[in-house]
Amino acid sequence: MDLFEYQARDLFEAHGVPVLKGAVATTPEAAFAAAESMGGRVVVKAQVKVGGRGKAGGVKLAENSEDAREKAKAILGMDIKGHTVHKVMIAQAAPIESEYYLAILLDRANRSFLVMASVSGGMEIEEVAHKTPEKLAKININPNVGISAELALEIVRKGGFGPDVEKGVAEVLVTLWQTFVAEDATLVEVNPLVKTSDGKIIALDGKVTLDDSAIFRHADHEALIDHDAADPLEALAKAKDLNYVKLDGEVGIIGNGAGLVMSTLDVVAYAGEKFGGVKPANFLDIGGGASAQVMADGLSIILGDPAVKSVFVNVFGGITACDAVANGIVQALEMLGAKATKPIVVRLDGNNVIEGRRILNAAAHPLVQQLDTMDGAASRAAELAAK
Ligand code: GDP
Ligand code: MN
Repeated sequence: MDLFEYQARDLFEAHGVPVLKGAVATTPEAAFAAAESMGGRVVVKAQVKVGGRGKAGGVKLAENSEDAREKAKAILGMDIKGHTVHKVMIAQAAPIESEYYLAILLDRANRSFLVMASVSGGMEIEEVAHKTPEKLAKININPNVGISAELALEIVRKGGFGPDVEKGVAEVLVTLWQTFVAEDATLVEVNPLVKTSDGKIIALDGKVTLDDSAIFRHADHEALIDHDAADPLEALAKAKDLNYVKLDGEVGIIGNGAGLVMSTLDVVAYAGEKFGGVKPANFLDIGGGASAQVMADGLSIILGDPAVKSVFVNVFGGITACDAVANGIVQALEMLGAKATKPIVVRLDGNNVIEGRRILNAAAHPLVQQLDTMDGAASRAAELAAK
């Protein structure tokens, strides 16, 4: 999960990373009030989960509280790279002397963590990395050792920080590492980290990604989820503990086992080329125990997607045998009743397939068609979706 800047600022503050005052506002009036409480001179910052807000006009300095209200009015509702601004952060303004860059991230390729540090921070770090890579120090971190004060100083020196700021920046790096570990983050990025005219080192912009797989050990991370942005079908699937991902095609997919579902997506996309380019509408893995309830939950989510024109249920019986899955489909359709309205192509194979197919044939549901092969079923589902 990516955090908004104001949420990152709050986490930084909690872990001792130096930040300035910040408050989130959803109306110009609230922005005015927040600016008043910070002495008037503030920066109004669009809260969207995308970089380059500054260049897009989403970061504006306000001279006083009235100005903050006007700037907030202009920024709220703005579209930045396809993201509508619903919130602004009112941040205490800082007299910037230099802008630096610091980041800690999970480096999957090297199976470790990576620190990136540069004295050339600000808005164009991608350009720095591309045009002058020598100005961006990259140091791998042994996760069992972490970042001590000594290592932090070494890293900061490699990043080109001079003697006047290296100690302060190294201290910030240690607190960022503590944030990264304590919060189970996969990314903590500060751009810019600034030196103010009175010599202080402050994190002015924060980008944090938290590891969703670790949410069970962070009760407080639940509150950071942006429910407004979630796809409603994905939210419904999550509430029912289903592994569902919305895609942009027309053929609803249900399968058991992530590998089988992935290959089903490929086979359907391939078959769809013959029918005007229809594509899979989703990924849905109902896992090992395909009970009637799980099948009903899965089917109702997929049938509730207006983009879906046909459904392909592709199950390979293993520990859960095909007869149990077939009974699940029959009972699910009974539960859904008139809510089931789209053709459903079923391909069963594996453990107890004969009995599974017999059960579906005996039920003779008008929406259900059975095919014996994955390719045949994918082609039929694509054909039905194209009609
Ligand atoms: P981004 O463009 O989305 O990364 O947004 P940032 O928060 O990094 O802001 C972009 C730029 O606005 C920074 O690089 C700074 O130059 C400037 N900026 C941000 N906050 C302040 C501030 O408090 N005072 C001043 N003077 N400039 C700021
Ligand atoms: Mn930034």
